[in-house]
Amino acid sequence: MNILKKRLESDELKRLRYLNSRVILSDKDASHYFTIKKGFEGELNFDEWAAENLPSYWIMICDLLLEFINTLFQIDSLIFTGEKIYLFNVKNHEGDYYIKDGKWYSPNNTEIIDPLNQLIRSESLLKKLLHDLGYNIPIASYLLFINPEFHLYGAPKNQPIIFPTQLNRFSNKLNMQTSKTTDHHKKIAEKLSSLHINKSPFERVPDYHFGELKKGIIYDCCGSFVSSVVGGKIVCDRCGFEEDLDAAVLRGVEEFVFLFPDRRITTESIYEWCGGVVSKRSIRRILLKNLKLVRFSKHSYYVYP
Ligand SMILES: [Zn+2]
Repeated sequence: MNILKKRLESDELKRLRYLNSRVILSDKDASHYFTIKKGFEGELNFDEWAAENLPSYWIMICDLLLEFINTLFQIDSLIFTGEKIYLFNVKNHEGDYYIKDGKWYSPNNTEIIDPLNQLIRSESLLKKLLHDLGYNIPIASYLLFINPEFHLYGAPKNQPIIFPTQLNRFSNKLNMQTSKTTDHHKKIAEKLSSLHINKSPFERVPDYHFGELKKGIIYDCCGSFVSSVVGGKIVCDRCGFEEDLDAAVLRGVEEFVFLFPDRRITTESIYEWCGGVVSKRSIRRILLKNLKLVRFSKHSYYVYP
C-alpha cells in the first residue's frame, strides 16, 4: 500500500502516555487514556492488515480530521482504488456488545455513541467536501471491527459493517478490483491530506505541574525508570534493553519540551528532569552537541536547531 499520510500517535495520547509514567492519573483520565490507546492500537492493526492484504499500488491516507462549513469530522482511513474511495472507521471494541431498540450498548450495559451514525455523518461530509473541491468520485464506507474478541448481538443485516470473521472474505472481494489508481487519485489524496487539521480541538489536557511529576529517564522498552548509567550506556535491568546515553537524554529532553513548552532547556532543568542520574557534565556535553546554545547574559539556554 502506498501510504501518503501515515498514522501517528496523537498529542493527546502522547501526553497521557508520558504523564501515566510519572504521575497517578485520575480515574477519568486513566480510563480516557486506556480508551484512546486501545483505539490507536486497533488502527495500527488495521494498517498492518491493509498492508498485508491489499494491493501495494493502492493509496492509503490515515487519520484525517477535516472540516466542511464549520463542521469537523474524523476519518480513520481512506483507501483509494482505481474505482472508488473506501472510507473506514476502525473500532477495537472487545467483548460482547449488543443493540437493543436501535441503541448500542457496551458489555457493561452502558449506551455508546452509535458508530454507524458516525460513519454516515463522515461519509456525507466527505462527499460534500469533495464535491466542493470539484471532485466527483464514488465513496464506499465501512465500519470495521478489528478485534477478534468482538461480538455484536442483534447486529442488523445489510449494514456496512465488517466483523473480524469477515475480514478475509472482505479483502478477497476488494482484491477483485483490478483497476489501478492514477495521478488523479493521487491528487485527491494529497489535497485531502493537506486539509488535515493538526491540532484537535477535542484534545482533553489534564491539569499537571512540573513539581508533581516523578523525575527520571524512562526506558523506551518497558517504561521503567533508569537507575544508573554505565560507560555511556543505560541498560534495563528488567529486559536487557540497551541504549546510548545521548539518545536516552535527548528522548528525555523531547518529553520535557512537549510537556512543558514554556520552560527553558538548560543544563540545570534537564539535570532535574533526568532525576539526577546523569551528571551535569554529561548533560552539558549532550545539549551542546545536539542543540543550539542561546547566550542570554548569565542565563544561557538551548533550543532545537
Ligand atoms: Zn526494559
